[in-house]
Amino acid sequence: MFDSVMIANRGEIALRILRACRELGLKVIAAHSEADASLRHVQLADEKICIGPAAARGSYLNTTELLVAARLTGARAIHPGYGFLSENGDFAEAVENEGLVFIGPRAASIRRMGDKVQAKQAMREAGVPCVPGSDGALPDDDQEVIRIAQRVGYPLIIKAAGGGGGKGMRVVRNEGDLLASVSLTRQEADRAFRNAAVYMERFLEHPRHVEIQILADEHRNAVWLGERDCSLQRRHQKVIEESPAPGIPRQAIAEIGQRCVEACLHIGYRGAGTFEFLYENGEFAFIEMNTRVQVEHPVTELTCGVDIVVEQLRIAMGFPLSVCQDDVTFRGHAIECRINAENARTFMPSPGTVTAWLPPGGPGIRVDSHMYAGYEVPSHYDSLIAKVISFGDDREQAIARMKQALSEIVIDGVESNVPLHREVLELREVAAGGFTIHFLESWLSTRQTKGATQ
Ligand code: ADP
Repeated sequence: MFDSVMIANRGEIALRILRACRELGLKVIAAHSEADASLRHVQLADEKICIGPAAARGSYLNTTELLVAARLTGARAIHPGYGFLSENGDFAEAVENEGLVFIGPRAASIRRMGDKVQAKQAMREAGVPCVPGSDGALPDDDQEVIRIAQRVGYPLIIKAAGGGGGKGMRVVRNEGDLLASVSLTRQEADRAFRNAAVYMERFLEHPRHVEIQILADEHRNAVWLGERDCSLQRRHQKVIEESPAPGIPRQAIAEIGQRCVEACLHIGYRGAGTFEFLYENGEFAFIEMNTRVQVEHPVTELTCGVDIVVEQLRIAMGFPLSVCQDDVTFRGHAIECRINAENARTFMPSPGTVTAWLPPGGPGIRVDSHMYAGYEVPSHYDSLIAKVISFGDDREQAIARMKQALSEIVIDGVESNVPLHREVLELREVAAGGFTIHFLESWLSTRQTKGATQ
């Protein structure tokens, strides 16, 4: 049990967590960097404490400073949000060693599922179908790597065991490129994730990205809360997400959802989590698990009515889940557009001062944003400034409401990708639904070529 929560994060998710804490009557402590003293959740928190410089290494990624801040403010629990230290097993362990509650899974689960090689092994044991590939990390022996690749088949993808954020992946189309690609990915992985282990998977040419949201408590209860289709991606990063996934039979979703619940029980999982799959030719294949709340969690909240962040807090307090599987029913359709401070054509980040911000509204529109007029978008962090989520009785209504919402938005002072979202939502393929993970990239490249010849 705890009565106060320190939020070790920033931006829209910090505000989202603050709102959930308040709903449960919990005291909120905002741990913020020097650049973030005037963030919305910092202004609204019961207590605030500066944990270091703008650069995340000195603040949001600094375990020592965060633990000192918790001690000084008397916080009893820490919510890591997403990104930063949210999937760092050492941080979770350090928090618990201080006698505080880490609002997330046990350190051992984070470590196991954070290593994609181990995660796939655990999933195979639990009977969850995986993308075919090497059984474990690739060996140093070149001849052995060539043999494994022949077994997996080309094209294949080399992935960093400790990778994340769409980084540390390389597609290999023929044997001639194999060894150089393995060695380059190893170097990158070592630099970016301090883990040089890489593995190999068959590269699926036309998959969709479909993921299952789960919640599990300390009492061996687990539920799945439906799926999200996150196929609209740029550079392996999600741009628009929706639920339900158009055209996938409900029975197939229910079956894979149930497998995920069984996997949670198998690994003794606790907290919120997401099982990510590629879906091709009517089959699901596991790629990785995220052991934290995700950016796109609102589309699930709108379609199943469960507050995922409130549940995270309740689970951490030791309560059983407030719903069982039979209570979870799905209604309507939800779509999320991630609004970034960046140029809508070049994707260059656009830090600066927001001079005007008029969020959209009306039936079926939810806006999760920490922005306000006068807000300074810092250059130190990711460029997400708002999430617009629309809900409708069906997909058509959700899209119609989203288009209206996007046409109402005013953001002055910084550039945003709102024009990109507007264009994308007009596309015939997007209206039809069911596009693959490569759709957006290939549309962007034809748009680029057209732009160049005009
Ligand atoms: P990260 O942890 O960096 O997000 P993931 O393993 O979740 O990495 O993969 C991110 C994205 O990369 C997927 O959503 C998909 O678009 C693409 N991807 C990953 N593995 C494969 C694969 N085997 N075949 C085709 N695309 C893949």
